[in-house]
Amino acid sequence: MSVTTLERKPEKDEELLRRFVVQEHHATNLHWDFRLEMDGVLKSWAVPKEPPTRSGLRRLAVQVEDHQLDYFDFEGVIPEGEYGAGTVKIWDRGTYSLESRKPEKMVFELRGGKMKGRYVLLHFTDKPENWLLFKTKTG
Ligand code: MN
Repeated sequence: MSVTTLERKPEKDEELLRRFVVQEHHATNLHWDFRLEMDGVLKSWAVPKEPPTRSGLRRLAVQVEDHQLDYFDFEGVIPEGEYGAGTVKIWDRGTYSLESRKPEKMVFELRGGKMKGRYVLLHFTDKPENWLLFKTKTG
């Protein structure tokens, strides 16, 4: 038996370790772009206040359009006249594992430099783009 036959792909989505990134974006309004590698793209939320690094803080997270995976490492200046013009720098990055994913709630474990522990994205209104991002008390 060759070694390669022992390699198996994880069967469940949840078992895969994926990347996340938070980009601090000095656009017209300062915000933080929280992005999760998911479904072959970067699922993205714009957070108008600094993302929570401890429990007890809830942040509005407005879902914006998916970004391509190669945007993950982007830092630099988006030129005047282009969408999102301004400076982008990476505020945090790391990996995460998905604990659960439902249309109204996602739970995941972040392993970043600043964001560490169990987090929730909660779809709290009828507005499809509005979510709440917070760190849970446990973990
Ligand atoms: Mn942005």
